[in-house]
Amino acid sequence: MVKKVTPKNNSAKSGLIKTEEDKINKRGRRSTREIVTVTGMRDILPQDQRYWHAVKKVAEKIAADYGYGLIDTPVLEPVDLFVRGVGKQTEVVEKEMFAFKDQAGDELALRPEATASVVRAYVQHGMLNQSQPVKFFYQGPMFRHEKPQSGRHRQFFQFGFEAIGEANPALDAQLILMGWNSLNELGIESVIQVNSIGCPNCRDNYRKELVKYYRSKSKLLCENCRKRLTTNPLRILDCKEEECQKLKDESPQVLDYLDDDCKKHFMKVIEYLDELDLPYVLNPFIVRGLDYYTKTIFEYWSTDDQEGKNALGGGGRYDGLVKLLGGREETPACGLAMGLDRIVAKMREIDLEIKDEFQPDVFIAQIGEAAKKKVMVLYEKLRQCEDFRVAQAFYKDSLKNQLDLANKLKVKLTLILGQKEFGDGTILIRDMEGGIQEEINFSRAEQEIRKRLLKYKENGANVPPETNKLKIDNN
Ligand code: AMP
Repeated sequence: MVKKVTPKNNSAKSGLIKTEEDKINKRGRRSTREIVTVTGMRDILPQDQRYWHAVKKVAEKIAADYGYGLIDTPVLEPVDLFVRGVGKQTEVVEKEMFAFKDQAGDELALRPEATASVVRAYVQHGMLNQSQPVKFFYQGPMFRHEKPQSGRHRQFFQFGFEAIGEANPALDAQLILMGWNSLNELGIESVIQVNSIGCPNCRDNYRKELVKYYRSKSKLLCENCRKRLTTNPLRILDCKEEECQKLKDESPQVLDYLDDDCKKHFMKVIEYLDELDLPYVLNPFIVRGLDYYTKTIFEYWSTDDQEGKNALGGGGRYDGLVKLLGGREETPACGLAMGLDRIVAKMREIDLEIKDEFQPDVFIAQIGEAAKKKVMVLYEKLRQCEDFRVAQAFYKDSLKNQLDLANKLKVKLTLILGQKEFGDGTILIRDMEGGIQEEINFSRAEQEIRKRLLKYKENGANVPPETNKLKIDNN
């Protein structure tokens, strides 16, 4: 018997969680009849793909504009890459990593992020010898065993840009701009939160002061933050618990602990952001969760997300990571990652209209076996035309069903080949909005489609082109 489990927290109201938990039977096992996605992971269905496609297209364009080359790294990496790179004591590695031993006893992990992998690739392929910086663009799924809730999944998608081998603060500013441009070009308004956590020296001094401050208030901290006091005190500043939030206002601020070099670097970044007229806020409380960051760090918050609960992306400088992962020399670097899931959710929330790039313009219908064979060949020719897109359903015989589908697909024109037209060497071309159709020479189908679609464009999308008035019924 299937037991319905009521979601315990608000966030678990999402359809995904409910569907999965609904399938759990009394003994805590899933129904044997149906297999569903793993908790926190989801399918992205064809009807939703246009949003994802739009984001990927903008990311690809930005990468090309700024000269970042695509890199694909494996989803599985040695656990050690993240333990060493991201940091053993970080939440991402300590609590959230999907890690396991494979059949050969190798310790592997599903990547929780991609910067460490890109740096591994840079070192492994000796890219230190190339002209610097080497600029990478990536996109793909990441995996973190977090508590699933809105905006937080266990498999989520990121795209990102990494530039390795350059210390100039102009690079930091340009990367910050690239992330902001990605959102802006999608129609999402965001504010950049920017901070500097300095080099390891500055950070050590700051950490000591921070621990001193929070030790004196430890009774007021949440349980997690009390633990963070010894493991990762900077993360206390990130905590969203109300009590911890209140305490941070009086806490020491990292900018006061920057040495001259780090301060100079940060001031330059800010100067460039001003010059570019970017909307940013100096936010001394963003610290980012990963150990490798040095100097500039930043996040993108949508304008209505005052507390950064659902940052759309973030990044920073990581000057020590290449050496840490086996690089021969100190190699400065900077990068960012944007979260596709949250970007897509935001696009839907603000009702952004996304044109379906694969929207067909023309449908080809047929009646009878001989006509079917003839338009199958025509379709192969027309589908290669780059200025319009053609759809068909040759597996359907009824004209009514075919026209219903053409209507559903919202095509502008339908070509119909019946027995009579087959015999005459003609084909009908039907304007779907006005229901008016005309007989044309079969061999002129391509030109006629083009001519009529052009008229559509000129007249505005909703005005059907003028044709000889001739109507048929739909069956
Ligand atoms: P991070 O690597 O933690 O800096 O994350 C960069 C961006 O990835 C965040 O700003 C989010 O947009 C997205 N992101 C991180 N973790 C998740 C998650 N569990 N689910 C969905 N998106 C995420």
